[in-house]
Amino acid sequence: MNVYYVPDPRVYALVPMFGAFLNVRVCRRVPGWALIAGRSRSVRYIIPCRGGRLQVAAMIFTLLLSLASLAGATLAPKKFLTLPLGQIRPTGWLFDQLMVQTNGLAGHEHEFYKWVKDTDWVGGDAAYSYLEEAGSYWFNAMVPNGVLANATVIIEKTHEFLDYVIETQDESGWLGPEVGTDKRRLLWGRYPFMIGAIQMTEAYPEVTDRVVAALHKFVPLANAMLKAGNGTDAWAATRWEDFVYVLQWLYDNHPNGKEDLLLETMHLSKLSGIPWELVFSEKVLFFSPCLAEKLKNPFPELSWHGVNMAEGLKALPATFRFTHNQSDLDVASKGWDMLFQYHGRPSGAFAADEYLAGLEAVRGTELCLVVEAMFSGSFLYQVIGDLKFADQVERMAYNALPATLTGDMWARQYLQQQNQVASKNMTPNPFPEDGPYSNVFGLEPNYPCCTVDFPQGWPKFATNAFLVTPDNESLVHLYLGPFKVSAVLAANNPVTASVETLYPFGDTLTTTITATKAFTYFVRIPSWVTKGTISVNGEPAEAVKPGENGLHAVAVGAGTTTLVLELPADIRTESRPHGSVAIHRGPLNYAFDIPRTEKQLSVHPLEPRAVDMEFLPESEDAWQYAIDPSTLAFANAPPASGVLPSPIYDAGLPPFTLTVSACPIEWPVAGDMFAAPPPENPTCLGAFRNITLWPFGAAKLRISEFPVAAIPELLFAVQNPDAIVS
Ligand SMILES: [Zn+2]
Repeated sequence: MNVYYVPDPRVYALVPMFGAFLNVRVCRRVPGWALIAGRSRSVRYIIPCRGGRLQVAAMIFTLLLSLASLAGATLAPKKFLTLPLGQIRPTGWLFDQLMVQTNGLAGHEHEFYKWVKDTDWVGGDAAYSYLEEAGSYWFNAMVPNGVLANATVIIEKTHEFLDYVIETQDESGWLGPEVGTDKRRLLWGRYPFMIGAIQMTEAYPEVTDRVVAALHKFVPLANAMLKAGNGTDAWAATRWEDFVYVLQWLYDNHPNGKEDLLLETMHLSKLSGIPWELVFSEKVLFFSPCLAEKLKNPFPELSWHGVNMAEGLKALPATFRFTHNQSDLDVASKGWDMLFQYHGRPSGAFAADEYLAGLEAVRGTELCLVVEAMFSGSFLYQVIGDLKFADQVERMAYNALPATLTGDMWARQYLQQQNQVASKNMTPNPFPEDGPYSNVFGLEPNYPCCTVDFPQGWPKFATNAFLVTPDNESLVHLYLGPFKVSAVLAANNPVTASVETLYPFGDTLTTTITATKAFTYFVRIPSWVTKGTISVNGEPAEAVKPGENGLHAVAVGAGTTTLVLELPADIRTESRPHGSVAIHRGPLNYAFDIPRTEKQLSVHPLEPRAVDMEFLPESEDAWQYAIDPSTLAFANAPPASGVLPSPIYDAGLPPFTLTVSACPIEWPVAGDMFAAPPPENPTCLGAFRNITLWPFGAAKLRISEFPVAAIPELLFAVQNPDAIVS
């Protein structure tokens, strides 16, 4: 069966013209629009359509182009390929961060946390919802965590998990805890397990045959379910791209002669769910440019759900691979820009406290959203190759991710705020859809999902930090930080690269490369770098010249090569709502770290380190400042030992700081208790003083969107006598 998908809005109006010939079926109505699925003997399609004046010539031309582009039915290649799990190892402070995670909540959930310890995925009886995602999320995260931390117990647990799920696959092909029960069979909960299983094959090739066989047994079942409209609840309808990701891995690596079935199942998955090319489209204005609660979503409400959107960011690059439509990539890129334009955070993440939450500094960002958006951003770079995706992922990793976990990573929030003056049970609270407990640091505040999903963040950041070009001739260092990588490049060229750096808490990266044969090494130069230089084998430093994809190319010879990159950055200010500003240098966002008191709210009966904690400011006037951005200055106090403190992401620990002149202002608390919007043109209530700004991720209570200090009237009159009108 030929399958095609036509997303270009110019063909929408073709449906009224040709619909009668194609057995068109209206499947969903939205105001002013109809999503129409059609089927003929050889063609299946879905076309968002709208009546109106026809521009027939343009539309027919576009339709012909779309059909022509689908001839051949193959997957478009990615611009960059990942390396198997285990070949890229975090070192230095990043390895320490991974060990903090392993020694914290993530590495102990299997011992005491019922949704993991007793998960029905491996024969227990615990599941926190009918979605059956807890065990699946945990497995997806802890496979790379176990491998990269070389954590024996976790590695054993993930092997047991994989074995159990594969051994209990039933005759129909179904995988998961529904086997042998009358539980409803929904597709979505399987996808994280499958992505975890893919990672298992990379680290442990001996499991590959069993995993591939199990997936190939599942695909025909899923195909039949999708054709019959089964297994796709509202969550599967927004997360279909995760299944397409799995299907494309099978197609790329182990198609086993099933290419047509795999391609058809990709199409069916897409047709079963949200048309992300419309949700992210600027042209049809379905993207919410403001608070989700202020607008009526023309699609099912879960399409503006933050975690779904974070996962949905993968959908269009994945779709492009089977449609070959450039418009899929164009919308993906523009949709990414709109998401951060209308909902972006200085932390690198975007705001959605359940649903898209706009720009106000007290609205929330869910932890699952952060780690899923990081993973999707990595995939977007691999398919599209635009520097902006990699820059944003790095900012999320080095700001938003650590900010929402305690330094020792034993407690996490559900929602983080950019301006967060307390972490407590808030009644009333600023989150319209989430509970008042959402910004407490604890085991499972508000909802359990983030507890089992967040551990994928650091490990997958590491596994996507290096890539290879599709011809396998070049190695690409994408995410800057301390890593060690080994790979065998084309023409049997084993290479290693070892990066020593404190980045993002240092500007220097020293990379030692070994190779059997000459090759081209690429390193990403972030957009914020100014006057960056590179020195090769002790030669005089030269200016970096990032080319296509944001990469600087280095011709590396056989033997050992040493690169020294200096990547300084200017201090940047970002305009935020109410005339406020956010401050950045390099990948780091900087915040005023509010001195805090801690109070234990509860402790888990089986694990005394798993506590819920309330953070309050030490005093009521501890954070109300306006700053004068013209006085910002950067300071670096590198550790004498060369080794950063462990953990690094907590109060007073990072070596990079900024100082700025600030004055106390009146800035009320709203609700109980969060900061009111930053006051515009505030009046200084006292003398200017220097305050220190710290990396956002280390400041668990903070102000990161600052009012700008107004120059006192008297001083203004002295400096601008001509402006005074009597
Ligand atoms: Zn979550």
